[in-house]
Amino acid sequence: MADTTVHACACPDCRSGQDHPDRQLHHQINLLMSRLDEQQRRWLAALESRKAGYGGDTLLAQITGLHVDTIRRGREELDAGLQGRPTDRVRQPGAGRPPAPKKTRPCSTT
Ligand SMILES: [Zn+2]
Repeated sequence: MADTTVHACACPDCRSGQDHPDRQLHHQINLLMSRLDEQQRRWLAALESRKAGYGGDTLLAQITGLHVDTIRRGREELDAGLQGRPTDRVRQPGAGRPPAPKKTRPCSTT
């Protein structure tokens, strides 16, 4: 699933169409998100939420389109030092679809 579209920020300020100081920041968060994998997106949202302080989860949910629970989970994972999170895999080993069997076509004899 290669989704290269950048999520449009849905925070009230951006939706109003007015120019505001955080518009570019919100856009760049989403731009960055579009290049990250699932867990990295969660952690970035968690970090930005923490920076935003009170109500950060809700704000970041509006900006990124992630669920507040997802962001909260990301924050918990950050707090735990990302322990148990794989460093080189998007998903935990064993999760997801098994690799498709290779299709080998019998050679045609001439
Ligand atoms: Zn915004």
